[in-house]
Amino acid sequence: MKKFDKCPCGSGEDFNTCCGDIISGNRTAQTPEQLMRSRYTAYVVKKVNYLLRTTHPSIRTAGLEKSIRKWMKQVEWLKLHIILVEENRVEFIAEYITDTAPGRHHECSVFEQIDGEWFYLGEEFE
Ligand SMILES: [Zn+2]
Repeated sequence: MKKFDKCPCGSGEDFNTCCGDIISGNRTAQTPEQLMRSRYTAYVVKKVNYLLRTTHPSIRTAGLEKSIRKWMKQVEWLKLHIILVEENRVEFIAEYITDTAPGRHHECSVFEQIDGEWFYLGEEFE
């Protein structure tokens, strides 16, 4: 696996003390922003299990793993921009590149806490 010194989420911190520590299970994300960043980083470092584990049980469907793997194959994530952080929502733009073209994924993610642990609940459409 590719080695990362600075965390791919753009925090400026070392990978091991930032999202790496959360993805490996040493500690859990304390805020929706931390979870969002760690899930972005999990896409970059291709940690499918972490993405499944942090997806809210209500939307953890049978086809989820397949769609995550498909994303990972098609898209290389380049950069994360956090736009807005609220109580249980994080708006962000993630820059990526595919075989054919660069793109931007703009999403407002919603998170929910179960027994003190944050989970990704999906994308909010307004
Ligand atoms: Zn990070």
